[in-house]
Amino acid sequence: MAILICGGAGYIGSHINKQLYYEGYETVVFDSLIYGHKEAVKWGTFIKGDLANIDEIEEVFKRYKIEAVYHFAAFAYVGESVEEPEKYYYNNVVNTLNLLRVMRKYGCNKIIFSSTCATYGEPEKVPIVENMPQNPINPYGMTKLTVERIFRDYKKAYGLQFVVLRYFNAAGADPEGELGESHDPETHLIPLVLDAASGKRSDIKVFGTDYDTPDGSCIRDYIHVMDLADAHVRALRYLEKGGEGDFFNLGNTIGTSVLEVVESVKRVTGKDFPVTMTERRPGDPAKLVGSSEKAKSVLGWEPIYGDIDTIVTHAWNWHEHAMF
Ligand code: UDP
Repeated sequence: MAILICGGAGYIGSHINKQLYYEGYETVVFDSLIYGHKEAVKWGTFIKGDLANIDEIEEVFKRYKIEAVYHFAAFAYVGESVEEPEKYYYNNVVNTLNLLRVMRKYGCNKIIFSSTCATYGEPEKVPIVENMPQNPINPYGMTKLTVERIFRDYKKAYGLQFVVLRYFNAAGADPEGELGESHDPETHLIPLVLDAASGKRSDIKVFGTDYDTPDGSCIRDYIHVMDLADAHVRALRYLEKGGEGDFFNLGNTIGTSVLEVVESVKRVTGKDFPVTMTERRPGDPAKLVGSSEKAKSVLGWEPIYGDIDTIVTHAWNWHEHAMF
């Protein structure tokens, strides 16, 4: 029995692949390499393929007895999703339907899915709990919410067992330095601030300093990628024990502002660099912080790398010695 990881060559998927390997699972990574890195697949079997192509998915299910599927394969650039929604609905929604079709055909009914706090849109209050209204404010968030709804229907009609994990801001890197975050283009705050610290970038721009927050910059809930990996293994065990279908936030319940992230990077790296205050980035909610009480009580999950300096230290170590 093998575990299929769609999108396992990407940032989060590659860390989960490593974790599953050390938990004793046989993994098969399926990735188009549009954004993923072949070098990030250091464990298990790698197959290059695209969820847009049903035949390529079927090949995997013919060759391996797949017990469960992790699904990380998605486009995730919010701005691009506004410009090109068709690309996002096809890749993130239609291709998920392809995957579910093949899973049904081969009798595989367990899936763990990467969703996002972007499904909540502009929250009424924080910390966000799972049953709060979900009103995404961009097509990216809407594609993820659509897949969540599809799972509910497939559960009722076809007995699909699922775990939806709504990540807050994934950050940090493998403490052993074998994996880390590497996006092209990079849009995420922590790698960009590290670029400023290492001189790859002339400065870091702070998008908005007039938010209704203590220092005026946006507040996010940064969650270490290894804590995410641990939650994913727990999600699989939950399904193996007969869990039918549920939705969990994965965050630290700690809000950190953009300016606090910048301070943390200066502290950890010992480098100084210019910080430029600029306009707000369209579509950024002031505060996104998640309650993870449900993941704690149902999955027994407890993040251990909550401290922002620890997250930045691991990210900096990767940044300085990145292998891809
Ligand atoms: N941000 C920023 N400058 C940058 C990139 C991001 O000030 O160059 C801010 C962004 O406005 C948001 C926070 O950093 O408030 C986190 O942004 P990121 O893109 O990393 O993740 P998001 O919260 O959008 O998923």
